[in-house]
Amino acid sequence: MNKSFLPILILIPSLSFGLSSYSTHSMEYMDALESVPPVAIEAYDIDEDNDNNFMSVPNETAGLSKDCCLFPMKVKATDSYSGASAAQRAFNARRDNGARLHAAADLYQSQYQPVYAIADGTILEDREPFYLGTNATVIEHTGGFIVRYGEIASNSIKPLKLKKEVVAGQLIGYIKKVNSKKVTSAMLHFELFSGKAQGPLTVKTTTKNKYGRRSDLMNPTTYLLAWEKTLR
Ligand SMILES: [Zn+2]
Repeated sequence: MNKSFLPILILIPSLSFGLSSYSTHSMEYMDALESVPPVAIEAYDIDEDNDNNFMSVPNETAGLSKDCCLFPMKVKATDSYSGASAAQRAFNARRDNGARLHAAADLYQSQYQPVYAIADGTILEDREPFYLGTNATVIEHTGGFIVRYGEIASNSIKPLKLKKEVVAGQLIGYIKKVNSKKVTSAMLHFELFSGKAQGPLTVKTTTKNKYGRRSDLMNPTTYLLAWEKTLR
C-alpha cells in the first residue's frame, strides 16, 4: 500500500459505511460499487506502485500491438479512464476499500451506445449475464488475446453464434447502464486477457489476486487510448 495514503484511510470507515451492506454479497454484486459516485477517497484511490499486483504490466510481448485493433465504440468515452482523473473508471482502481481491484477500464458513454468487435475473432460467450441486469460478450481475437465486453444489453441484435467468427468493426451489442442508482452513466466495462492462461475469466478474489480474474488479465488502458486516438 502506498504509505502516503495511510492518513486518508482513517476517513474511509465513515465514508464507506453506507456501502458496507454490500460486503456480504457476491463478487459480481460487489462490482456494482465500481460506479459509486466519485468521492474524495476514490478520486486518487489508484494503486500506483502496483505492489499487490500479481500480473505483469502489459507490453508488446503479450502478442498485442497497439495497431491491432479498433476502439470498441465509434465515439470516444465521455469521461477519462486514465490517470488521476479516471477515478473509479480506471483499471486497478480500488474496490471495497482495496480488498478488490478493478479488472477493467470503464468507458462511459450514453445508454445503448453501439459496441463493436475491436478485431477479427471468435465468439466465446454471447451476452451472458454479468451483473446488475447487464451482460457480457467474450471474444477471442486473432492473435489469441481475449476481450470481455461487459455491461451490455442482452437484446437488440441477433444472437451471435458461439465459436463462429466475427470481423473487426462488427456490431456486437449496446452498452446498458447497470441497475443501480449509484451508477451515473452507462459504460463499456472493458477487460483484456492475453490468452496465455486457461480456464474461467472470473476467479475467486484472493489477497494475491485482487482482481478476481484469470492470471493473464492485462491492463487495457494504453491500448484503449491508442485505439481511441484513431477515431475522427
Ligand atoms: Zn468496470
